Amino acid sequence: MSDCIFCRIVKGEIPSKKVYEDEHIYAFEDLDPKAPTHVLIVPKKHIRGLKEAESSDAEIVGQCHLAAAKIAKDRGIEDGYRTVLNVGPGSGQSVFHMHVHLLGGRKLTWPPG
Ligand code: 5GP
Ligand code: ZN
Repeated sequence: MSDCIFCRIVKGEIPSKKVYEDEHIYAFEDLDPKAPTHVLIVPKKHIRGLKEAESSDAEIVGQCHLAAAKIAKDRGIEDGYRTVLNVGPGSGQSVFHMHVHLLGGRKLTWPPG
């Protein structure tokens, strides 16, 4: 999708601070961090959001979460971090290319707002 900002970040057309990359996943620092660690993990393939994901996307959805766990381990924030998938405008989803937020490095309150 040429007009999707995360597709453009994956392609390198928009600069980003890369955190992790493999064949299917790209992870980068959020532009407007909400915690000391705020990384976005996205499938390289365009998926609009979790509710648009199909059963054939199960592996990539899981891989995004496992990548978050790996990054959290590498950063030593395993005492407490959070993975978040905003789904739909009512949740605050503003970029319609599925992404997992990894938030950590500070006390995280519950329930989230
Ligand atoms: P959402 O609100 O859709 O769950 O999350 C979108 C996230 O993408 C936000 O946290 C926002 O700060 C981040 N974001 C939006 N545009 C860019 C960008 O061009 N570069 C980076 N690194 N992050 C972005
Ligand atoms: Zn996209």
